[in-house]
Amino acid sequence: MSMRIDELDAHIIELLQNNGRMMYKDIAAVANVSLPTAKARIKRLKELGVIKRFTVVLDSEMLWGRVRAFVLAKVNLLDIETLKEKAAQMAEVRNFYIVTGDRQAFLDLELEDIRDLPKFIAERLSKELGLSDFNILTISNVIKEGYNVQVKPYTSLRFRCDFCGAVIYGRPVVQYIDGVRRYFSGNDCAEAFKERVAKKK
Ligand SMILES: [Zn+2]
Repeated sequence: MSMRIDELDAHIIELLQNNGRMMYKDIAAVANVSLPTAKARIKRLKELGVIKRFTVVLDSEMLWGRVRAFVLAKVNLLDIETLKEKAAQMAEVRNFYIVTGDRQAFLDLELEDIRDLPKFIAERLSKELGLSDFNILTISNVIKEGYNVQVKPYTSLRFRCDFCGAVIYGRPVVQYIDGVRRYFSGNDCAEAFKERVAKKK
């Protein structure tokens, strides 16, 4: 399986970003390829994890009572996997990035009510995620907001090792573990990952 995005992939991605419900036959027609080719390309992009999922984009500005805030904080728990797992359980955390600077956590939050914010920060972000030294920026106006990644043809795919988090140069070791396609920098990482999964069970 090629580890690059070609022109056809980029075209299909662009079509699906504009309309995630576009039918295979229409994609095939617009991209000027056969139906099986279009289907196979989309399947491949999903398997590679380039297409994570098909979702719905809402205009949160239209939903009354919601509050958006950015939070910068210090990271004390340095286990990225644990942070990922815990943050995945928090619907209020829309996006979470590790950034450079003295506060390494950058979170994009969305809550029902501004009055819930202090409690959410104290109980969830501080206690559960181990973050501290919060700098809170509430959003008053949205000037521009994007959700689509621009994809250019001939982009190489970049994989990170699912065990150690390192960027994988060359071909990743691919394994299906509990039905999920996983990428590793080597067999050592794959084995260590499987051991960790086994321990959690
Ligand atoms: Zn690794």
